[in-house]
Amino acid sequence: VLTSKNALVTGSTSGIGLAIARAFAAEGANVTINGFGDADAIEKERASIEADFGVKCRYSGANMMNGEEVTAMVKDAEAAFGSLDVLVNNAGIQFVSPIDEFPDDKWEAIIRINLIASFYAIKAVLPGMKQRKWGRIISTSSAHALVASPFKSAYVSAKHGVTGLTKTVALEVARDGITANAIAPGYVWTPLVEKQIPDTMKARNMTEEQVKNDVLLAAQPTKEFVTVDEVAAIAVFLCTDSAKQITGTTLSVDGGWTAE
Ligand code: NAD
Repeated sequence: VLTSKNALVTGSTSGIGLAIARAFAAEGANVTINGFGDADAIEKERASIEADFGVKCRYSGANMMNGEEVTAMVKDAEAAFGSLDVLVNNAGIQFVSPIDEFPDDKWEAIIRINLIASFYAIKAVLPGMKQRKWGRIISTSSAHALVASPFKSAYVSAKHGVTGLTKTVALEVARDGITANAIAPGYVWTPLVEKQIPDTMKARNMTEEQVKNDVLLAAQPTKEFVTVDEVAAIAVFLCTDSAKQITGTTLSVDGGWTAE
């Protein structure tokens, strides 16, 4: 699907982003990965993508909090591989707190990383995509782009923002061979979900099992976590020619959560 194409996946040192980067590489794309973590572990991951799939893989340590770093990351990726054909805005963080106690810096960081970074990345990638008349912009959004949950005001606001950004970009580039879509997973078993369990236990005065079954999977009628590979498969599909009329939309992969 992606032979001779070049992709950038933000926040891809872990979880969903890493699965998407590996799935793109499996389809023949060169990929730039990004995110934080232990330097040796990241280098091992980068090298294994090259070794496993016979593509080029580079790493950018750009911080999605910082617009200038986002722009430079996109320009560097484009220069290194000669084009940037697929952008996945995936980096994201979560913080769980009642709104009247929500730390200001956490609220702003969530909006920056989950929403504002996407603006800078899209702005930087579009000129090249328009010139080449082909591009795929995909954002890892969330069921929280469509519905809310208590104690997640920043995240819900950021992800609803991604829905609006996706629609607007899709309209602006509809005649340029570029699509813009968001994927809206329900609960996917990744470090991001694992890390919010202690805070949710505290906020709701619950045990770990209660949080998993009564809070997380309570919303998911299938009673199963989504897998990172299921999300990555949708990202690959959105890059195919069959998907070229899918644009401006948010595709749910949430075990029926938002059907309720
Ligand atoms: P994760 O914590 O496993 O991965 C997040 C990635 O983002 C990591 O690579 C991390 O290093 C990177 N990152 C964090 N802050 C960054 C920054 N300032 N600059 C650059 N990189 C940064 O989480 P995940 O669950 O794989 O989440 C990926 C995306 O999926 C997020 O946008 C998240 O909101 C969304 N999502 C996750 C779930 C879920 O249940 N796990 C559900 C819906 C949506």
